[in-house]
Amino acid sequence: MGDDLRAYRERHDLEGAPEAPGVVPEPADRPIFVVQQHAASSMHYDLRLEADGVLKSWAVPKGPSTDPSEKRLAVRVEDHSLGYADFEGVIGEGEYGGGSVIVWDIGPYRNLTTDDDGAEVDVATAVDAGHVKVWLAGDKLRGGWALTHAKVGGDEANWLLVKVADETADARCDPTSTETTSVLSGRTVAEVTEDPGR
Ligand code: MN
Repeated sequence: MGDDLRAYRERHDLEGAPEAPGVVPEPADRPIFVVQQHAASSMHYDLRLEADGVLKSWAVPKGPSTDPSEKRLAVRVEDHSLGYADFEGVIGEGEYGGGSVIVWDIGPYRNLTTDDDGAEVDVATAVDAGHVKVWLAGDKLRGGWALTHAKVGGDEANWLLVKVADETADARCDPTSTETTSVLSGRTVAEVTEDPGR
């Protein structure tokens, strides 16, 4: 994990997040989420949640919405290593996912997934079961989001990412169109493409 990311985790908190049932973890134990904007063959946003020592990952073509009525397709992709969370740069053409990547948002998250009895379900188990609800505490994204394995169009990889209708929901705002820069470097994907070495 890079120093940028470490500093980021320390600056962020989960103020305003609803209390999760069970034991609230110590700050150092808070898992992180990241959203990487990725200009591959088509532009998308990779949402990753730290769980079980890896980053559970989904590619979201339209990116996350703050409007609970917007159901965003989220295609499950392979787990990534934790060290990838603060990756920014250019993946070479011809390699898997070739194109530029920026860290669009990053921060801690809290697991809000519960079973029918209200007991907390750990994130890795929740992902395996096909439904996970989290509170994201980033710069751009703040509040609850749910990921559901809806198998849209009959495709096993297809999940849906939907904003939870909590006090942070806002149908008027559209963060992926208004927010275009990295929270770590201030650069856009286009700037990374033009000057990968910086
Ligand atoms: Mn990607």
